[in-house]
Amino acid sequence: MNLYGIAAQITIIIDCCTDVHIKSDYGLIAASYVRIVEYGKSILPEGNRLKEHLYAAKSMMKPLGLGYQKIDICPNFYMLYYLENVELTECMTCGHSRYK
Ligand SMILES: [Zn+2]
Repeated sequence: MNLYGIAAQITIIIDCCTDVHIKSDYGLIAASYVRIVEYGKSILPEGNRLKEHLYAAKSMMKPLGLGYQKIDICPNFYMLYYLENVELTECMTCGHSRYK
């Protein structure tokens, strides 16, 4: 594979990571994700590489060991509900509920 081919593969992987990241960040259901990607494809030049289905994006990432983990965050950005804080139900700093 030449340098252009390697760069193209890296671009596809970054696109997939971005897609999965956006879906996770906004808690999108698969149907809304598909609709947004369909719209994106409709306005991009023909031959674009947006993956129409989340499954396709995830399956491309899986062999690389690039899974993802959803981590809740305080809406005021004070803390992550991660590691020793994974069981907490409200923010240690501002007291905001994890689930509201
Ligand atoms: Zn907080």
